[in-house]
This record gives sequence, structure tokens and C-alpha cells, in this order.
Amino acid sequence: MDEKQLNQIVSFIPREVIEICKRFKAQDLECFIVGGAIRDLILGREVGDYDLATIATPDTVESMFDKTFDVGKEFGTITVVGPIYQAPAGKEPSLYQITTFRTETTYEQSRRPNDVTFIPSIQEDLSRRDFTMNAMALDPLIPAFIDPFDGFSDVQNHMIKAVGNPKERFQEDTLRIIRLFRFASVLEFEIDSECMEAVKTLSDSFPLPAMERVYDELSKLMASQKPHIGLQGMRDAGIFKRIFPSVPVPTDEQLALISAMSLDGRWALILKDGDYSKVLTTLRFPRKEAHWIKRVIRYNLDILRARLSPQDLNISSEKLMGLGFTGKDLGKVQQYLLDEIASNPEHNTQKKLLELASSFLPRGVT
Ligand code: ATP
Ligand code: MG
Repeated sequence: MDEKQLNQIVSFIPREVIEICKRFKAQDLECFIVGGAIRDLILGREVGDYDLATIATPDTVESMFDKTFDVGKEFGTITVVGPIYQAPAGKEPSLYQITTFRTETTYEQSRRPNDVTFIPSIQEDLSRRDFTMNAMALDPLIPAFIDPFDGFSDVQNHMIKAVGNPKERFQEDTLRIIRLFRFASVLEFEIDSECMEAVKTLSDSFPLPAMERVYDELSKLMASQKPHIGLQGMRDAGIFKRIFPSVPVPTDEQLALISAMSLDGRWALILKDGDYSKVLTTLRFPRKEAHWIKRVIRYNLDILRARLSPQDLNISSEKLMGLGFTGKDLGKVQQYLLDEIASNPEHNTQKKLLELASSFLPRGVT
């Protein structure tokens, strides 16, 4: 990256992040912006979170800021709660994860690396990261850009490449396989052929990562503009059938449809022909979301219908009871009216609903 590009990127970094870096600099401690933020700055995408990496130990980091909390101190991460300076009134509090430079060894099917060693080198910290596009560091104060694996070119070429040998990196932490397809969808990047080959070789045998982490990655994939990219990649590499053994692999027709569909219906579309209840449990879908997906499947992907409940009817239960509908029959007539207004929203007036309910009488009530 040339100096002009670097200065331009630095100009987009929020003041608070710069203030955090200055605190470290004042104590002569190295601190860098790392991970997805740099990738997204280069791409001109909105940055979700700014993650920082420092040579300072977690205890030191904790002592440097007023408000912090510990979500994984033994792994080197301290969360700093902003604002850390006299911010304009009404500024939303923001969170920054600051992680001590570290290496990781032997992953298991857990949320965390088994063993973490703190190290003095940002270069080495970058080498534990998954993809070249996520293994860059930026000191916004000098400014200096550290890019040992040429992630910058890969970002410019919209290419996902592993840091080092892809097969080894995927074996070390199999969640990276799922992340690969998540990034392919979210960033609309191409997967490098070596990575794809490595995934294909491992697909039948790789130990499944922790399911709640798979769910987190797949939720991001599904919420992207182009979920079909990642799903197609997963299908073609044999990953889909490993993660969803009880669901038929998505057809070309489903893939052609999914990206045009609203997020509300996407999971239902993919899961409907399989044992979806099992998937929702195995992947630990949040209860509310699981309930919604089942509902959309029950209504045969008619999302408008799935969204409607008896409260949406412009006729009260009491009125319907006055017509003689009680118990199960009340439920039946409400379902009937809801089906009716899903296809004809203009029928949702008390007058029309009364008329429809009355015509339902002979079948609904004995
Ligand atoms: P997003 O914009 O979605 O937050 P991100 O790249 O910041 O994307 P995170 O999951 O927030 O992704 O992870 C932050 C950084 O931590 C990554 O950019 C990467 O450098 C590193 N990282 C995260 N998960 C792994 C992993 N499983 N293996 C290696 N490095 C990882
Ligand atoms: Mg992130």
C-alpha cells in the first residue's frame, strides 16, 4: 500500500480508536488495529468492530482504562468500554477488544484455543490468523502498515487465501472451513484453489467444530447479500452434508432463489425438505428464531401468512364468539380469516370479516 492510500485509510479511523492507540504509545507500548477492520477499511466497507492487538499484558491493559470487562483474560483479551475521552453528549458506548500478542496451540472442538502463549511480536501474532486478508496490522499513529502475507493484494484481488498451508490451518481449527464460506458470501470474494482443494480433501473426515460457533458463522453467511455463494461452495466441497446430514443438499433452484429472498425465509427454504427440527436443535438456534423457521415451513414459505396472528384481525374474538364460535371452532375460523387476509389484505375490515366468518358457519360449527 502506498503512502497516500495509507493516509487515506487512517483518515477513516474513528477518533476513539486513535485515542486508545495514543494511550499505549504514551507508555511506549506497541498497539495495532488488526483483523477484519483493516480488510474492511481497504474495501471501503463499513467496519463492524475495531479489534486491537498489543504487546501489553492483559493486566496492564486493564489498568490503563476506567471501564473494562474480562471475557477471556486468560486468552489475552480485555474488553474496553468507550467512550474513553470527553465524547460528545449522546455518543453510544462502544466496545473494543484488546488482545495481547499471542500464539495458539492445539485446538479442540471448543470455543477457545487450548493453550495460549503471550509473545512480543506482532508478526508472529499475525501468523496465527486464518486468512491473509485478516492477518494485517495497522499502527495509525506512525502510520505503519504490517502485512507479512500480502493480504493487501489478496483484498484488492477479492481473493481468500489461507495464512500458510491451508490443509494444516483447517485441521488446526476446523471452524476456519466454515469461516471460509462465510467470508466468500459476505465479501463476495473468490476462494483460492488451494484452499478449496484442501477443504475437499478434508470434507469427509474433519471433526465438526462447536455447533454454536458454526451457527454464528452461518448466520452471518445467511444474512449476507449473496448467501448462495457460500452455500454453493459448501455443497460443492462436501461441507453442507457434513454440517446438515439430515437435510438434502440445496438444489440449483433453491440456490437461485435464496439470495433474492428476505432473510426471514432463507433458513426455511434450505431446511424445509429435511429433518429441520433436528438441525435447529443441533446447531443451537436461538429459541425465537427456531420457532419462526418452523412457522414459515408450516406455512409453506408464505412469510406474509406466517407473520399474521389473530391479533392482526380487525375483528375481536368476542365478536366471533358472539357468532357462535367457541373453543376449537374459534381457532379454526381465525385461521381461515388469517389465510384470507394474507392473500387479500383489503378484506381485513370488520364488515368483511364478519361476512366471511358467517359464510364459514356451516363448516365451522355443528
Ligand atoms: P467481522 O467483520 O465479521 O467481524 P472479522 O475478520 O473481524 O470479521 P472475527 O470473527 O471478528 O472476524 O475475528 C477477528 C479476527 O480474529 C479475524 O480477522 C482473524 O484475524 C482472527 N480470527 C478469528 N477467528 C479465527 C480463527 N478461527 N482462526 C484464526 N484466526 C481467527
Ligand atoms: Mg470482527
